[in-house]
Amino acid sequence: MSEATETIFSKIIRKEIPADIVYEDNLCLAFRDIAPQAPVHILVIPKQAIAKLSDAESQDHALMGHLLLTAKRVAEQEGLTNGYRVVINTGEDGGQTVYHLHLHILGGRHMAWPPG
Ligand code: 5GP
Repeated sequence: MSEATETIFSKIIRKEIPADIVYEDNLCLAFRDIAPQAPVHILVIPKQAIAKLSDAESQDHALMGHLLLTAKRVAEQEGLTNGYRVVINTGEDGGQTVYHLHLHILGGRHMAWPPG
């Protein structure tokens, strides 16, 4: 199992700092991004501290599926019936800034392609 170092998201999981939490279960947490890039911008994170997608291993496959299905569930909860984008920034070239695996759910406006 890969280990992430302590991040701001660890503190959000432990409720040591506030976050606008929209979904939580025993495996993951979803909360609104502090600097939203779309009308709806929510992060889905595992409670298990995996630093980045490239650190996930075969034994994490059920958790990975759970995160994706949670993104779908949260998007439905947010009323994103016209579509949305799910993004996982990974590592330096991927633009990752917080080294605790997270899925961005972006919605409420049309998304351009390719991303910057
Ligand atoms: P990354 O760039 O690693 O893919 O995304 C990290 C995201 O975490 C950014 O969109 C950033 O705005 C968000 N973020 C960073 N610190 C906090 C925080 O303390 N609270 C919340 N809700 N979001 C944060």
